Amino acid sequence: MPTAQERAKALAKEVMKVMREARAAEARVAVLSKEMAKAVAEAKAEAEAAAQPKTIFQYPSGRYECASCRHGVLFTEPIEELPECDNCGSREYTGHEPTVTVIAPPAPKLYQAGMYQCDSCGARIAVAVGTDELSPCEFCGHQGLTHLG
Ligand SMILES: [Zn+2]
Ligand SMILES: [Zn+2]
Repeated sequence: MPTAQERAKALAKEVMKVMREARAAEARVAVLSKEMAKAVAEAKAEAEAAAQPKTIFQYPSGRYECASCRHGVLFTEPIEELPECDNCGSREYTGHEPTVTVIAPPAPKLYQAGMYQCDSCGARIAVAVGTDELSPCEFCGHQGLTHLG
C-alpha cells in the first residue's frame, strides 16, 4: 500500500501530464478552428456566386458587320461571345441581336453556410453547405444554433 505522499506525488505527475496534453489539444483546436473559418468563408463565397442569376447570350449564326470598321464576318454557328474583329479588334458588331437567357439561381437555403454557435452549450459548429434544416448540436444534441457569420 503506497503512502499518501506517494499517491499525491503520482497524482500530481498524472495531472501535469493530462494538463500538457490538454494544452496541446487546445493549440490544435485553435489551428483547426482558423483553418475551418477560412474554409467556411470560401464555401460561403462559392454559395454566393452560385446564388447569382446567370445571363447567357447567344448570337445566331449569320453575317455580322464590325460596328467600327465595317469589316464583314460570317459566323456559321451560334456563338456565346463575339470575337474581336480581325481587322480592328473591336467587339461591337451589327447584324443580329443575341438571344438572352437568364437562368434564375436556385432558391436560397434557409440557413446559409457559416459559423454557428449552439444556444445551449456554446460549441462552435461549422455549416459548410447551406441547408434548410440544421442538424442538432454535435456535442449536446440541442436543437437550436445561432448564426455567427
Ligand atoms: Zn473592325
Ligand atoms: Zn450544444
